[in-house]
Amino acid sequence: MNHCQSCGMPLGDTEEWLGRERDGSLSPDYCKHCYDRGEFRAQMTMDQMIEFCIPHLVRARPEMSPAEARKLMEDMFPRLKRWRPADQVGANLSGP
Ligand SMILES: [Zn+2]
Repeated sequence: MNHCQSCGMPLGDTEEWLGRERDGSLSPDYCKHCYDRGEFRAQMTMDQMIEFCIPHLVRARPEMSPAEARKLMEDMFPRLKRWRPADQVGANLSGP
């Protein structure tokens, strides 16, 4: 299943939750809560996004504590497209 590459929300098998590009086409990567008309709705850091998502995740998964929700997202978010450093590939090869 695809997850939103900004907030990690499962996007499911429908187009219902997909955001839209500037030309109105559906974004394959981001949900409509995060992304609209080719832009992110809110500019925030990865940490701010995690803080924002904790109460939503805990509501969706009542068996999970806020601390567990944070841990899950801290593991997951660095792998999402929005938060992945663009220069990660080969980063270890550069330097003085
Ligand atoms: Zn999202």
